[in-house]
Amino acid sequence: MDEMAVRKAMDTLRLGWLSRNSDYCRDCAGVGIVTSRENQAPLGSGLNWAETSVEPCEECVGGGKCPTCGNPLLTDPAGQPIEGFKGDGRISCIVGHVSIDGWAFAGCPPTYEELY
Ligand SMILES: [Zn+2]
Ligand SMILES: [Zn+2]
Repeated sequence: MDEMAVRKAMDTLRLGWLSRNSDYCRDCAGVGIVTSRENQAPLGSGLNWAETSVEPCEECVGGGKCPTCGNPLLTDPAGQPIEGFKGDGRISCIVGHVSIDGWAFAGCPPTYEELY
């Protein structure tokens, strides 16, 4: 596929996802986790010792809400199973969105620019 075709396919995928999930969490783009990079080198050492930390998004899963649709999750913020949760190490919401593993959901498909 040429670049235009790839862009078009990605746009279609993204717009379809956005139209189905208009209440997705803007803070994490519907993924449920936020990634931050911090310099963990000892203070004053002058080293660049970047550490990537991944944490559940405060706005959605942190408040027990689905990153994809904003409905309640079947797992509480401490990861404790609640009624209806299948307990296979993933979390899901009341309408059936399920995380890939742990806190991470598939989220909004990236734009061409975000990927390349
Ligand atoms: Zn979020
Ligand atoms: Zn959901």
